[in-house]
Amino acid sequence: MIPYGRQHINEDDIQAVVDVLRSDFLTQGEKVPVFERALADAVNAAYGVAVNSATSALQLACLALEVGPGDRVWTSPITFVASANCALNCGATVDFIDVDPATGNLSVAALAAKLEAAYAEGQLPKVVIPVHFAGQPCDLAAIHTLARRYGFRVIEDASHALGASYRDMPVGQCPYSDISVFSFHPVKIITCGEGGAAVTNDAELARRMALLRSHGVTRAADQLEQLSPGGWYYEQQALGFNYRLTDLQAALGTSQLRRLPAFISQRRVLAGIYDVLLQDLPAEALRRESDVSSSWHLYVVKVPEAKRRNVFDALCAAGVGVNVHYIPVHTQPYYQRLGFRLGDFPKSEQFYQQALTLPLYPELTEAEQKQIVCILGQALAG
Ligand SMILES: *Cc1c(COP(=O)(O)O)cnc(C)c1O
Repeated sequence: MIPYGRQHINEDDIQAVVDVLRSDFLTQGEKVPVFERALADAVNAAYGVAVNSATSALQLACLALEVGPGDRVWTSPITFVASANCALNCGATVDFIDVDPATGNLSVAALAAKLEAAYAEGQLPKVVIPVHFAGQPCDLAAIHTLARRYGFRVIEDASHALGASYRDMPVGQCPYSDISVFSFHPVKIITCGEGGAAVTNDAELARRMALLRSHGVTRAADQLEQLSPGGWYYEQQALGFNYRLTDLQAALGTSQLRRLPAFISQRRVLAGIYDVLLQDLPAEALRRESDVSSSWHLYVVKVPEAKRRNVFDALCAAGVGVNVHYIPVHTQPYYQRLGFRLGDFPKSEQFYQQALTLPLYPELTEAEQKQIVCILGQALAG
């Protein structure tokens, strides 16, 4: 079976984890801060806070921005459920912005229109979470302009986009956002097994996220609220969680991060091969924006809606692990029970009906790509 995505682990990665296993600390040692520094440096951010998943990072990012009951958070329906759930888990309400069907990213025009209406009703969002779908960055400068006009904060869900860039700046540099979040799940660009991180240029936001990651507890002498009675002393200052990344995971992450440039160039080459192979098929690739460079987390094509199911089944039957990104979040049963309806975000629903994700990962071969496109062509002709 050719999967739609998979990790690429080499001997250096393995050795990095083995070294931690032989060391004194499996967690809460020195590997997490090393990984955080390397990640922040790689994306030109001031601070990195590593946690056990991007899901946790999104929640901590919302909490650091003081999202709570009575607040509204908006995101795209074409995303993994975690982008929306983070707000609900803080007690806030969620709404969605329809996508640009050419890219799968949130439509800035739809965002502007929705903000105007929300302003008139006194219902503006506190936070907007743009999702860099498939690894292609959203129009961050345009979103930032709206953020300043309407006073909302921006968390980039960059789970797909480590190694991508926007106007020649790495995603994560955050000139147009408050916080960016990355995922290190094995299908993503680099992996820790499970893992995630938030990066920011704001020292206070970084401090809050680091505090909440570990029970709201600190030992840092310069941050204590009360006088320390001795060396054993720690303080719980907020209600937090155990969202820590282990040293085993962080060592793997640091090793993987060294390979990020190679991963991105391999993905770009493979995407270019698909572009050529798919030229004469009724399978339309997503539009590429001119001022961005994708990390190529996913290679998504749009196929005729009436054929999508059969094409999907034919590829699976032939051992090709295609996928569909994403079932629009607002159509999930849980979100339907919150009051969302089919038809609420028609462009996202239409996008979903046509979307098909072809396998893309560093070790995929050109021969496999030819085989995949051959089966795809037959299925589309059938
Ligand atoms: C993978 C993913 C997440 C969640 O990442 P985890 O590390 O698995 O929690 C969130 N948002 C998007 C867009 C993702 O693709």
